[in-house]
Amino acid sequence: MHLPLPAGNVDPPRLAMLGGTFDPVHLGHLRSAVELREALSLDRVHLIPASVPPLRGEPRVSPEQRLELLRLGIGDTPGLVADPRELHRDGPSWSADTLASLREEFGVDARLVMALGHDAFLRLADWHEPERLFAMAHLVVIDRPDHEAALPAALQALIAGREVDKPAALMARPAGGLLRLALPSRMAISATEVRRRLASGRSVRYLLPEAVERHLLVHGLYRR
Ligand code: ATP
Repeated sequence: MHLPLPAGNVDPPRLAMLGGTFDPVHLGHLRSAVELREALSLDRVHLIPASVPPLRGEPRVSPEQRLELLRLGIGDTPGLVADPRELHRDGPSWSADTLASLREEFGVDARLVMALGHDAFLRLADWHEPERLFAMAHLVVIDRPDHEAALPAALQALIAGREVDKPAALMARPAGGLLRLALPSRMAISATEVRRRLASGRSVRYLLPEAVERHLLVHGLYRR
């Protein structure tokens, strides 16, 4: 896509996708992306907003506004990019298709990771073509302090035999593994709580990057 990977890299590229609604982006997303990149020595983490999130209601802010907020939030953070590829596709945003487009771009040897929080992981068996996700990428599950439920039976069946316990074991292959990560700064921040606060005029300071907060307040986004 728009940003080339560093030249002279002889190892296969290492990339992650963190998809979501980003309605709006907050420090839980951004800090997780930075720490994920460090934990797995990734070249880049693509934060990819969904245009039509398949498993939830219509967000109140347009996809273009959510992308703009994401760009503001990322700013000049090394190794993070706001990737608009799902917004250019018609119809629902299936993650398997997004991973297929990343795979096509970066090649069969690329180490491709789909990162998701534990809350999203718990619903994975209900996703579109969940087996195909593992054909395209590794899954990395990020612990969230406010989401600690046990795994449903269908999910246990889906992930059977895939789990490894070290980044090096995951990165030995291009796809197909599962790693659960407790990143150093687990943050109990959710977009739901940010939206609630904005709707009732309460402070969101230090839950979001300042540039995002400023933009939201100036444009009156998420106000009731
Ligand atoms: P909402 O409250 O609207 O459901 P959210 O805060 O969970 O939103 P999403 O855009 O749905 O944000 O999340 C995108 C991805 O980031 C998901 O995989 C989600 O689990 C993960 N994520 C969101 N917040 C955090 C957090 N605080 N720590 C780790 N992962 C997070």
